[in-house]
Amino acid sequence: MLVKEFCMYCGECAGVCPRNLIEIGENRLKFNKKDCKKCKICINACPVGALENEAET
Ligand code: SF4
Ligand code: SF4
Repeated sequence: MLVKEFCMYCGECAGVCPRNLIEIGENRLKFNKKDCKKCKICINACPVGALENEAET
């Protein structure tokens, strides 16, 4: 997951992840990428569109 610089660390994305994989830090977001199922719920929940999927590999 890519977090753009205008993320305001509101916690919205962390609250909606069904697997609880997002942690809000002081000035960063921490994703547990290993367990992410790429459901994109967090991407869709961000009010400012600060999340973007990394290129699928
Ligand atoms: S919902 Fe968007 S602005 Fe809020 S913490 Fe998540 S990425 Fe940042
Ligand atoms: S894509 Fe889905 S599983 Fe992955 S961090 Fe976002 S909400 Fe959680």
